Amino acid sequence: MYKNDQKYVYIRTFGCQMNEHDSRKIILILKELGFESTDEPENAQLILFNTCTIREKAHHKAISQIGRTTIYKERDPNTIIGVCGCVAQQDKESLFDKYPHLDLVFGPDQINKLPELLDHAQRKKRGLSVELVNTPEEYTFLDQLPEEVAPASSSFVSIMKGCNCACSYCIVPSVRGKEVCRSPEEIVAEIDQLAKLGNREAVLLGQNVNAYHSKRSNSSTKDVTFAKLIRLISDETGIDRIRFTSPHPKDVGEDLILEYGQNEKLCPHIHLPLQSGANETLKRMRRGYTRERYIEIVRGLRKASPDISITTDLIVGFCGESDADFQMTFELMEEVEFDSIFAFKYSPRPGTFAYEQLPDDVEKVVKEERLEKILALQRLISMKKNEALIGKDVEALVYSLDRMNRGLLTGRMPDNRIIHFSGNPDLIGDIVPVRVTAAHKNSLAGEMIG
Ligand code: SF4
Repeated sequence: MYKNDQKYVYIRTFGCQMNEHDSRKIILILKELGFESTDEPENAQLILFNTCTIREKAHHKAISQIGRTTIYKERDPNTIIGVCGCVAQQDKESLFDKYPHLDLVFGPDQINKLPELLDHAQRKKRGLSVELVNTPEEYTFLDQLPEEVAPASSSFVSIMKGCNCACSYCIVPSVRGKEVCRSPEEIVAEIDQLAKLGNREAVLLGQNVNAYHSKRSNSSTKDVTFAKLIRLISDETGIDRIRFTSPHPKDVGEDLILEYGQNEKLCPHIHLPLQSGANETLKRMRRGYTRERYIEIVRGLRKASPDISITTDLIVGFCGESDADFQMTFELMEEVEFDSIFAFKYSPRPGTFAYEQLPDDVEKVVKEERLEKILALQRLISMKKNEALIGKDVEALVYSLDRMNRGLLTGRMPDNRIIHFSGNPDLIGDIVPVRVTAAHKNSLAGEMIG
């Protein structure tokens, strides 16, 4: 029910979990300023687009929606309209030229400036803040906890921001800045509070999460690597499950692999973006590892944790990718047998090394053929792997009611698979024993045990 004097914010989020997490932070800040969030832009006094520019499609989607917001301004000239996230960081003040009805443009590192920017906009002055913050002294991790935590089961916890890598196709370093790591104390404190408030799982968030490296202010173990951080969280908080996204193969060390074998709270799943199975392509992508090293990591992980599920990202049709290079990717998939993949056709992004220096020379039709070929292979592999789990008893963390409204519950298994089963909605937030009864391409079906 909309109250006359209540201020409402509508925020539309595009892109990755980092953006989802940032939008939650924005809502928390705005709550302090008296805003409630709404899903209906027509009822909002503040309309924000938290945007993504990782691929052309995502960029266009955001831009076309921003263009359509003039109607709200015509309806009420006091409506404030703003753009944040990666398109704001990339296009900066030029967005005001393209969309004169915009009031706010702020980058991912400037979310804490929102109260000030809003104040500007309410006094009919445009708000622009797009500096990248690259030092821990200056960067503020805005991870406030809401007073009450919905009986959610899982929460994202950002442990670092930015990326120091230079993958030739990737725009992230230029829109998210350098890596800044959050103090281990802050991370442990937040996760411990989340656990006390009923959360069972923490998902550690970072663009290149396993490059995490920080110092403890008050303890002998000064140097805290990513593996050590996971160990600290397990030992010093009441959380049941730990996950993380997104790691980089070049930063997977023996300590992290061993942690999978020794830490029961660390869920047996890793999403490890490979991108290509050909060394020549990996070199042009500036990924910093070889196919041999990647396979070695996979073998180490499976030795440490035999039931681990390994998923990945793949790009087909990257600059200079020959049929033989593509075949290397295809054969690596056959050898490794990923549990699932996200696959994309190469999309040149302005502002990246590849866009400026490497020819986008793989024809569109060839990119499509290669994409279809690896998706077809993965469908077979995923089905085979899911079918092998039928009859197995698993511990599912109940996330929510099933989105397809079939009156089922949606649970997440330790290996990150989704399983649907019937049960009482009061079980949301609980870890329950389930027997797998059927397999589908991207999920499983089950029945509760006992
Ligand atoms: S690791 Fe590479 S692909 Fe990932 S965010 Fe950094 S530059 Fe981009």
